[in-house]
Amino acid sequence: MYRILAGEKFKGVRDFPAESVWRQMIPTKVCAFMWLVAHKRILTLDNLKKRGWQLANTCELCGVEEESIDHILSQCGFVVEIWTRMQRVCGALDLSGGDFITIIRRWSLAVDDSVESCVRFGALHAVSWQVWLERNRRVFKGTRLQARGVTRKAVRDSLDWAIACGKLDKGLGLSWLAGRQHLL
Ligand SMILES: [Zn+2]
Repeated sequence: MYRILAGEKFKGVRDFPAESVWRQMIPTKVCAFMWLVAHKRILTLDNLKKRGWQLANTCELCGVEEESIDHILSQCGFVVEIWTRMQRVCGALDLSGGDFITIIRRWSLAVDDSVESCVRFGALHAVSWQVWLERNRRVFKGTRLQARGVTRKAVRDSLDWAIACGKLDKGLGLSWLAGRQHLL
């Protein structure tokens, strides 16, 4: 799949940040989601309207602004709160740049042996993925988590990905998480 999506076939996509989207340690389905995000292909309400759907466009997460990829993944008050919580547990992250594709391009973090660096490495994918799942929960199931609950899921995703690929010891990761519940 990597070769299909990031290889020759898409050479013509200008400045596509393949290295930042396709990352070892992170599940293929999540990388594929980020690929769609980077190409503005996920079905946010603004994209559905461009395809001819007659819809009122209000963000499900804040209930105030219009829904677009840039809004729900980087500008919405709901996701800003999640990033604030995320940085409390794993340290400062560079989220500047306004639109989401700029944030993806800048996302090149090294992983050392600390648990925090493992969480930071997966944080962009994990937060974006969990925000999208939360958006869909609200739209399709009518249930909702608060920002704290979504942050917990994103931190846990990052930890699980690092554990699954052998970068992080499971016991160490879980005890680290237990010690930071009060910060989430
Ligand atoms: Zn919003």
